[in-house]
Amino acid sequence: MKATRRHFLVTAGAAAAAAASVSAVAATPCGASGLPAKWDEAFDVVIVGSGFAGMSAAATALHEGASVTVLEKMPTWGGNSAIAGGGFAAWTDSLKLREKYGMGKDSEEQHRMDTLKGGDFFNMPELVDVLVKNAPAAMDWMLKEGGLKLNKGIGRVGGHTAYRDHMATGERYLLALESIAKKNGFKGVRTNCKVVRLWKDEKSGRFVGVEVKTGGKTINIRANRGIVLGAGGYARDVKFRMSQVPFLTEAYNSTNQPSATAETLMMAQAAGASTLHLAFIQLFPTADAKTGSIDRPALFPIQFPGFGAVYVDKNGKRFVSELGRRDVVSQAETKTGGKCTWCVFNAQVYSKLTDKAEMDKFVATGRLKTGKTLDELAAAMQVPAAALKATIAEHNGFVRDGKDPKFGKPISKAMAQMTEGPYYAVSQWPSVHHCQGGVRINPKAQMIDIFGNVMPGLYAAGEFVGGVHGDNRLGGNAIADCIVFGRVAGKNAASKA
Ligand SMILES: Cc1cc2nc3c(=O)[nH]c(=O)nc-3n(C[C@H](O)[C@H](O)[C@H](O)COP(=O)(O)OP(=O)(O)OC[C@H]3O[C@@H](n4cnc5c(N)ncnc54)[C@H](O)[C@@H]3O)c2cc1C
Repeated sequence: MKATRRHFLVTAGAAAAAAASVSAVAATPCGASGLPAKWDEAFDVVIVGSGFAGMSAAATALHEGASVTVLEKMPTWGGNSAIAGGGFAAWTDSLKLREKYGMGKDSEEQHRMDTLKGGDFFNMPELVDVLVKNAPAAMDWMLKEGGLKLNKGIGRVGGHTAYRDHMATGERYLLALESIAKKNGFKGVRTNCKVVRLWKDEKSGRFVGVEVKTGGKTINIRANRGIVLGAGGYARDVKFRMSQVPFLTEAYNSTNQPSATAETLMMAQAAGASTLHLAFIQLFPTADAKTGSIDRPALFPIQFPGFGAVYVDKNGKRFVSELGRRDVVSQAETKTGGKCTWCVFNAQVYSKLTDKAEMDKFVATGRLKTGKTLDELAAAMQVPAAALKATIAEHNGFVRDGKDPKFGKPISKAMAQMTEGPYYAVSQWPSVHHCQGGVRINPKAQMIDIFGNVMPGLYAAGEFVGGVHGDNRLGGNAIADCIVFGRVAGKNAASKA
């Protein structure tokens, strides 16, 4: 089947049915009843999940000469990755984009320090090292081998001190990964295949296969070399997230697909996996205030501040540094006292990354408010015009002076003073977004058990893993994380050793 955006997206009904049934996952420790009487199928590498982590593991394992199967519980493949905004943080790339756009300096060490600081040093430094060292190569791999096309420009997003945000869409990265996999004989993701048990050979201590529910049947698939768990996060699992963070009730919207539930994580725990940081659950500060989702305009408040966009509250006043970390911005928004807050910009800002046609499109749908003047924009936003004009005038002064005494935002030369209409505003509000916690791995992506030992045969990557991002994940670092560690997991799982 040809992969299209529709192909990835799940309808709420089908999705809910497939994502539910936590009880369908084996609660008994795997192996308690021994191995299955027979194996229905066998592959060198069995991959659970078809997002960035699973697909990069598949492409890599196939390249290593392994036979591979990718199992996906949902009726369509791609998970959260299919709807990802597409920011990918890499401090360099073979296209030399940062240099091409004249966006200053960057380095592996700078990316490393930003990631550690952004996570308040809760991160496992050895995993951060793998991420920042290998992010450029992962990007180049998709550009060269997968035919990936990037958007115009290179961005700087909250918590990063450099312009390193490469932009495409989640769908484009997935198709690039699929295309690399196909070069090595990939036959496609197997949808409606839910892994419900990990089989462990008690004699050797090795994980050797999975039990799968598919089409009303149960089958057992042997993994001759390794199993990769790329099963994603649990932001849509209200019960599980509340068990970690009680205030994250269903009153909070989520940006995630219905597939983002915790039963596979619990299956890994039941098999003895160590987990960490499960309570570090990120709110995305600029989701659509009505739906909680991340549509294209919800990315403008993430991408445009590097070029001078300003956030205001319902009183037309700034309330935070627009380049603040996601947790800081989300908290500041909540403290403004009520929905919603806004990101304000004009052509001097958006033209660095996109064009008027895109603005017109979202003005037509009503998602963007606009006005020829700030007075007109304020009326459309229903905020006090005098306050909005004073805010923009003050911010223009900060940009001119190179200093933001109000919120300490680092001002760069790329930031514009907004002096010409038309002006635009997009509404924004926090929504449950990313799980920084998950299973514990080592830098080889091998899973670690509760006693600190490697779990032979088991590998994990992506949002299923904890410890890479500490208590707060920086924008663009998740896609890089999934693809970097997916590659590591795929390579090691395919190894005959
Ligand atoms: C709307 C949105 C926008 C985002 N934008 C960005 C961005 O611009 N930059 C960035 O860095 N990050 C972004 N992120 C975060 C990033 O996209 C995710 O962290 C990433 O997609 C996770 O990939 P993954 O492969 O780990 O999991 P997923 O893509 O969620 O894939 C996991 C898959 O595993 C399947 N699965 C789970 N359990 C089983 C089982 N037992 N059997 C079979 N299948 C199973 C699931 O159904 C799912 O399809 C965004 C996230 C969202 C939701």
